[in-house]
Amino acid sequence: MPNLPDVLRRNRRVIAFVTVMVILPSLVLGLLAFRAIRSEEVQQRFQERQRQQEIAVLLEADLKTWLFTQAPKGAIADGLLRFTVDGDSITFPDFNVAIERARNNTPVPFTTELDSVPDARTVQELYYPRILSFIRDFKSSQNAGAQYFRRLKAMIVQIPGTNQGYVLSSSKLLDYSASRLNDLTRSEAFSGVFSIAETGETSPAAADVVLVNLNDFTFFQIAFAPKPAGFNLRRNILLYSLVVLTLVTVLGIVFMYRAVSYEMSVSQLRTDFVSAVSHEFRTPLSTILALVERLESGRVSEAEMLQRYHQSLRQEARRLGLLVDKLLDFAQLEVGKKKFSFERANLQELVQEAANVFEQSSFAGRLELIPVDAAEPTLVNADRMAIIQCIQNLIENALKYSPAESKVTIRCDANDGAAFVEVVDQGIGVKARDQQKIFDKFYRADNAQALNVQGTGIGLALVKRIMDGHGGLVTVVSSPGSGSCFRLTFPKIKGRS
Ligand code: ADP
Repeated sequence: MPNLPDVLRRNRRVIAFVTVMVILPSLVLGLLAFRAIRSEEVQQRFQERQRQQEIAVLLEADLKTWLFTQAPKGAIADGLLRFTVDGDSITFPDFNVAIERARNNTPVPFTTELDSVPDARTVQELYYPRILSFIRDFKSSQNAGAQYFRRLKAMIVQIPGTNQGYVLSSSKLLDYSASRLNDLTRSEAFSGVFSIAETGETSPAAADVVLVNLNDFTFFQIAFAPKPAGFNLRRNILLYSLVVLTLVTVLGIVFMYRAVSYEMSVSQLRTDFVSAVSHEFRTPLSTILALVERLESGRVSEAEMLQRYHQSLRQEARRLGLLVDKLLDFAQLEVGKKKFSFERANLQELVQEAANVFEQSSFAGRLELIPVDAAEPTLVNADRMAIIQCIQNLIENALKYSPAESKVTIRCDANDGAAFVEVVDQGIGVKARDQQKIFDKFYRADNAQALNVQGTGIGLALVKRIMDGHGGLVTVVSSPGSGSCFRLTFPKIKGRS
């Protein structure tokens, strides 16, 4: 039984080659690609963060310009309420309302938003107290000239360096910021949503959102999220190469595993072969020795017995000779040294010659040769000895692997000019899964073992190689338990009339 360390030692070249040329480079490259992707990602994320900060600064500057210079001119009646701070009083020019500071400093509970044009009463009750508190905070530098009133959903702004101010509805502000943000992120890999931090108005709740606050308007926030998957060539190339490298590594390992397990099975078959061959030699040798010893002892004197002994000796010697021939031929075929000497022959004659050997053996009487159909001559272009050996191998197997009394039929015929011979038995048969493998060298199906039949596992491999050398075919049709039919088919003879 081959053991794994042995097999590994014998395959160390293949293993070293696959490891050095395939697995190690794949692992190293895979690692590098993976690290490249990782650092690429980290770098990209870092750059994105920086860019997002920049965008926040740009938007803030934009917003300031808009709030402190543009908006009062651009935004008119809807959502806009202008006021002038004049000493202690705040005047609303559009409403002709001027309110003394002392008169009302408790805000009326909030009831409406600045969606429609306010009337004098809402101005007085809603906005006035809030503007008052805004101005107070502004003076104590607690706001940067603009303040967001959450429940009012409005911005109160005082234009720097003037006593002018105005109230702006948040929806107008959000509209403006959204369009500006859209412009700023147009060519970026992410998009942004402007929102009011406290209320979360318009803010998205996605998981990979990055929130950035504005410096002066801390009540605003921008939520940056990646744009839906764009195609990143560099990243994809790295990813694909990682996949390819993984595949190569896996294939390398599979290849190595197969090489090692193949080697293990061949090694096993070789061990079986050596013990099978020794066994094949030992049986006739022990018979010969026993016969010779009896002859030497002088105890066998009857002429008939002597003749039987000599006959047996010849049979066993021939059996040994056939075995040696088989081994030598196989060795020659294996190294491609076997030369066939082709000549035209009648297959029927070769069959007859092959069968004759068995008529003088213990198998005598079991062979049945079916006469050829005269209409089709069974001519072949063949190496006579090699083909006789093939037929003998098939006959020997048919006899070995079937019950002692059963018949083995040999039929020779031609089909459309191609001669063939069939050896049919009623034996144990060959399982479908073994029908290809039995032509491999050293392979013995488990039916042979089950029957305890001796053999070397090279007979059919030899037949296959000889038939290949003749441009012919060896095929089997078999079903376990009911017998087998092995057929040798020869190529058509060219130029035959
Ligand atoms: P072996 O020396 O073992 O007979 P072969 O190469 O001639 O070697 O045959 C290979 C295997 O094929 C055998 O071990 C046996 O399992 C199977 N085999 C061959 N011929 C027959 C047959 N006629 N019937 C059943 N099994 C067969």
